[in-house]
Amino acid sequence: MYSQSKLLFERAQQLIPGGVNSPVRAFKSVGGTPVFMKHAKGAYLYDVDDNRYIDYINSWGPMILGHAYEPVVKAIQEYATYSTSFGAPTELEIKVAELIISMVPNIDQVRMVNSGTEACMSALRLARGYTGRNKFIKFDGNYHGHADAFLVSAGSGVATLQIQSVPGVTQTVAQDTLTAPYNNLPAVEQLIAAHPEEIAAIIVEPVAGNMGCILPQPGFLEGLRQLCDTHGILLIFDEVMTGFRLARGGAQELFGIKADLVTFGKIIGGGMPVGAFAGPAAIMQHIAPAGKIYQAGTLSGNPIAMIAGYTMLQTLQENPVIYKQLEEKKDYLVTGLREALGGAGVVHQINSLGSMLSVHFAEYPIIDFSAASSANNELFRRFFHAMLERGVYLPPSAFESWFLSNALTQEDLDATIKATKAAMQAITN
Ligand code: PLP
Repeated sequence: MYSQSKLLFERAQQLIPGGVNSPVRAFKSVGGTPVFMKHAKGAYLYDVDDNRYIDYINSWGPMILGHAYEPVVKAIQEYATYSTSFGAPTELEIKVAELIISMVPNIDQVRMVNSGTEACMSALRLARGYTGRNKFIKFDGNYHGHADAFLVSAGSGVATLQIQSVPGVTQTVAQDTLTAPYNNLPAVEQLIAAHPEEIAAIIVEPVAGNMGCILPQPGFLEGLRQLCDTHGILLIFDEVMTGFRLARGGAQELFGIKADLVTFGKIIGGGMPVGAFAGPAAIMQHIAPAGKIYQAGTLSGNPIAMIAGYTMLQTLQENPVIYKQLEEKKDYLVTGLREALGGAGVVHQINSLGSMLSVHFAEYPIIDFSAASSANNELFRRFFHAMLERGVYLPPSAFESWFLSNALTQEDLDATIKATKAAMQAITN
């Protein structure tokens, strides 16, 4: 079933560390051979052995409209003939900025970068430069990319590979990263009290997607906002996953909470390597060349990446019904998954919001990293493989959120629920 993938993985391991260009792709925590893809269309992935999968990763979030979405593909083809990179400003970048600012609340200016990592790294530098403070608070199990300062108690691949502290991140850097459990306001208050006037920012995934999908408890985000206001700290919403996915204006719109800086990635590039950070002009004006806080990129604002993102964002802007449809699909799937798992007598928790969800095999609510880590991840491993064999491509780690695309049909959802029933039968018998 996976013979070509196996051959390719053997070759890849000789040439690429671990055989992959990003760790979670390697299936380390679930075991087995990663599946090598050939092409994709809509809700489906096709691998090199010609297996077809219903996709619940969607490139870890960007493909909200499904793979090879025709208007995006066409726009890329057209723009590629103009030039693949100018290294000079274009009108397209203004149009992208206008569109983003029209969709996202509380921002006047936006700077485009090439990844979510760059977006978060740059937003943190801006917060530090703006406040003149060095330390910041992040949450256990939240992931903000692989810049040194964020690789402390990080989620996603760092959690999947059970790396406690990352070699190469110096103590000097790590000591300015303060961490608290997600959904735990008293812990944040304690950190602020212990470091008066030293904390530049609190960065948070407003809905956490890097330890499974974990929702903010009522009052958590509001409490962070209040603490930031009281203590002159900037609140950074990392909306790399949630931006343009939970709503056109992301988590800020959904929860009605204003962040001081927002970071984006994934959907913003329509599947091309793009990130961005944004905020009010009073803060963003400190970024070079307007201000002294330096940030740059040879390929930032790349025309192919910009037209891909622009085309996708425009579709979302003009068709808000997509969010309703996605949520209906997610609700239908969650109901079916609950029935399938419950019917098999498997203790589980499903967290979900909008078009994000995760399944944890545990009898207690999953509200933070410690709860996510204590779930039955061995059962998840078997579940993952049983689903893969049945043509359903789930994230190969219990520490990752599932992402739905609007290309999913009723038949796809029913097939996924049916596969879950069969998978559970195979595992539990
Ligand atoms: N922030 C969040 C919330 C993420 O989920 C990710 C990646 O998954 C990042 C930042 C880093 O983005 P990138 O992988 O594009 O560098």
